[in-house]
Amino acid sequence: MSEQVDVIPLEAYIDDQAEKLTDLCTRCGKCVEVCPSIREGSPMLAEADPASVIGDVVDLLKGGSASNRASTWAETCTGSGECISHCPESINPRLMLSIALNRVRAHRSVRGENPTGDFYGRMSQIIKFAVGMQMSPVQYRRITGRAGNPERADVVFYLGCNVLRTPVIVFTAMDILDRLDVDYAVLGGTANCCGIIHYKFHGDARGAGKIGGNTVDKLAAFDPEKVLHWCPSCVLQFGETVKGFKPYPFEFQHFAHFLLSRLADFKGSFRPVARRLALHRHDGGLGIDRSVETILSAIPGVELLDFDEHEHWAYTCGPGGLNNVVDMRRAAHEQTVRSAVDAGADTLVTLYHTCHRDLCVFESRFPIGVHNWTEIVGEALGLPAHEDGYKRIKLHTEISAAIEDSREFIEANGLDPTMLEAMLPDLMAGRNEGLSLW
Ligand code: SF4
Ligand code: SF4
Repeated sequence: MSEQVDVIPLEAYIDDQAEKLTDLCTRCGKCVEVCPSIREGSPMLAEADPASVIGDVVDLLKGGSASNRASTWAETCTGSGECISHCPESINPRLMLSIALNRVRAHRSVRGENPTGDFYGRMSQIIKFAVGMQMSPVQYRRITGRAGNPERADVVFYLGCNVLRTPVIVFTAMDILDRLDVDYAVLGGTANCCGIIHYKFHGDARGAGKIGGNTVDKLAAFDPEKVLHWCPSCVLQFGETVKGFKPYPFEFQHFAHFLLSRLADFKGSFRPVARRLALHRHDGGLGIDRSVETILSAIPGVELLDFDEHEHWAYTCGPGGLNNVVDMRRAAHEQTVRSAVDAGADTLVTLYHTCHRDLCVFESRFPIGVHNWTEIVGEALGLPAHEDGYKRIKLHTEISAAIEDSREFIEANGLDPTMLEAMLPDLMAGRNEGLSLW
């Protein structure tokens, strides 16, 4: 299968997609009018003629240069998907914007001016530190698929890269699969990336095709019926951005959708959980928040509260989503936490790992606990709770205390504490606002 990637590079596939999309687009501007990242994040684009904004994107996709308007829109698109249902031609403007972003970043890389040109390297280093402070080498080998996997499995739990930073989610989700008696293997880590970083951050479509294609080959090697992904960025990358580029002999399904499909089998085992929950949502057209809501609603004792937040602003928190517009991110997080507290919630439930990384720090400022939804399901199933090491590290006010706290794992993983001490302040900067890189 990897031969196919060499014969039909992703650039050629994307060029073909771009031609089809731009031939259908009438430049009506409806997608511009409904776009939250334009409305909330870019006065320059909000004041421009919508038809000319999309016109610049169409020209870029047809091989033209990247105007300031096209670059700005592509780089601030939060993937909300609000444009999709408003397009009268039933084409996908979010897909057009992802191709535009690839072109913008490719042009910048050629000029040596792409500030996100080494994102994969930096991300890999951050993941190495975050993982190395929270788990043993044995656990790390297990969740990257280097140990403990069967030769074949009905299901592969595919983690992508970044959920590894929040092992509490990974290990709780695995405990749930164990409880359901699922025959599964695990694959995760930066060596098994979906390709989104190369595609959207580096502007390197060829690299994205290769790394994503290799991951599909590794998943297919388990001969699974289903691959359960966790990360919404992997969902978009495989299910939309490069959909059809490389066929795969299994079904992709999100972990939450899979659990919902099995809910009837296990909801009888739920114990009462006395919590007043505010479920943090993202729409993004993926339906994942709705599946989680249905699962949580089946837990006796749980009260799911209505509260106001901006679930239509982005498909996820984090890079490539809400992070693309810092002011929107800050406003959305404040709104989420304050309105959850005002609604009387005792627990703010995070949807994805990126949301968890951003929102868990608010525990120090507001009278509310922050937990991922998998933790609530684990609690209802009576599973032993995993410590949220990520939250523990991030809530430390003294870097040296965070390092001391993690010393056992730091030594076991051979990390350099001096380097960590030098890097952590930068990585954790802005943590009180939920704006840190870590
Ligand atoms: S996906 Fe959302 S943010 Fe991106 S262009 Fe469409 S409406 Fe705008
Ligand atoms: S709404 Fe659809 S047809 Fe109209 S400008 Fe946007 S992509 Fe083109």
